[in-house]
Amino acid sequence: MDTIQSRLQEVRQRIRSAEELFGCTPGSVALIAVSKGKLASEIRTAYDAGQRCFGESYLQEALPKIATLSELDIEWHFIGPVQSNKTRHIAAQFDWVHSVDRTKIARRLHDQRPRQLPPLNVCLQINISQEQSKQGLDLDSLGTLIHEIQDLDRLRIRGLMAIPASCNDFAAQRHMFAQVRQIQVQLIAKGWPLDTLSMGMSNDMEAAIAEGSTMVRIGTAIFGERGSAAEI
Ligand SMILES: *Cc1c(COP(=O)(O)O)cnc(C)c1O
Repeated sequence: MDTIQSRLQEVRQRIRSAEELFGCTPGSVALIAVSKGKLASEIRTAYDAGQRCFGESYLQEALPKIATLSELDIEWHFIGPVQSNKTRHIAAQFDWVHSVDRTKIARRLHDQRPRQLPPLNVCLQINISQEQSKQGLDLDSLGTLIHEIQDLDRLRIRGLMAIPASCNDFAAQRHMFAQVRQIQVQLIAKGWPLDTLSMGMSNDMEAAIAEGSTMVRIGTAIFGERGSAAEI
């Protein structure tokens, strides 16, 4: 039967197989279930099947779901573009932000992170495809950003996130993810303790895992196709 529960099982199996095939430590790839465009009840179904990390792209849509599910021990990941007038709620309601690409946004998240919470986990979003339309930093800006935000102690800079242009060729997918990994390696060599690569979606998770992903963000393969209203 094609249910959230069975699809979640399938995705876990795909991750396990890829970890094994590409020589990753078993369990080294975390699964973020991307629930944008889906109902709180669907999130709860995945939660009941053991899923704990969920990703949302739109603050307005996420806030009521987070409130509805507040008694569950869910780790919330913000993965969409961050607008500066939305940072206060993001800093207070989320455990991770994958999509930081400007100093101004990083500063606001830092300043607005509630003191009683641990530092906010942050990934810097880089633009591998060099498409004008995609969010994310080019490489020159990445070096500048990382220096400008290094002293923000309410943020924990964990790693890099990328959304390469969609393509169905495995070698081409790997090539794009390999570039993200190379940037991580360079930053680690400069003394940045980055332990996270947030890369891989329903259509390219195996290629991402082959190139060292530690977090895959999976929506469609778990929850099914999104309606056009929530489509990004
Ligand atoms: C929607 C989205 C995903 C999930 O994509 P699927 O193809 O449905 O798995 C992952 N990451 C980001 C940033 C997204 O916006």
